[in-house]
Amino acid sequence: MPELLKNIVRTFLPSTCYVCDKLSDNAVCKDCMEKFNTVYKNEKRLFIKNPQVMIQSPFVYKGIVKEMIEDIKYRGIFFPVPFFASYLASMIRENAYDFLVPVPLHFLKRWKRGFNQSEEIAKEVSKLTKIPILKKVKRIRNTKSQTKLSRKERMLNVKGAFRVDISLKGKRLAIIDDVITTGATTLELAIMLYKKDAEKVDIYAASMAEMD
Ligand SMILES: [Zn+2]
Repeated sequence: MPELLKNIVRTFLPSTCYVCDKLSDNAVCKDCMEKFNTVYKNEKRLFIKNPQVMIQSPFVYKGIVKEMIEDIKYRGIFFPVPFFASYLASMIRENAYDFLVPVPLHFLKRWKRGFNQSEEIAKEVSKLTKIPILKKVKRIRNTKSQTKLSRKERMLNVKGAFRVDISLKGKRLAIIDDVITTGATTLELAIMLYKKDAEKVDIYAASMAEMD
């Protein structure tokens, strides 16, 4: 099916499997699930020392996973959201968190897009885990694209991008992101949450780019 037609079909008749296009209640149908898991699942777990966070993600950002994330992010098709949320929820349940923190978008970007994809995923995770979403986190700078920057430039580019107006003393937080590419933005958010006295901050992403 041509891409445009596929998107139209997904918008109005969203219940087809991403892999085989057959009718399905889930983004990936039962029959395709097995193959899907061997291709895209990598359950990555990265431990970062400074700031002290664990980054966890169930899927590699490629192929159909990438397509599903892009559908959510750029086309506002939320059909795959519960799929990712169920994997994230089972990872998150292993630890006790007080709040979920979706990576905020700058209000201009959010206004243009009409939604925040990380928030859409977090809302679904919150339903499954009963962990509330922390709403007091703002993105105060609209940062430029990170793709052509070095690691150091990326960290500088996002420095001071977030603001948190409350104390998080003793709180354990799980940041929720749609995709980790360089990690710079999400790590900056973690630094900011630690500055507000959070006890523990970890990062959970629906997908993670393969590092080269
Ligand atoms: Zn299928």
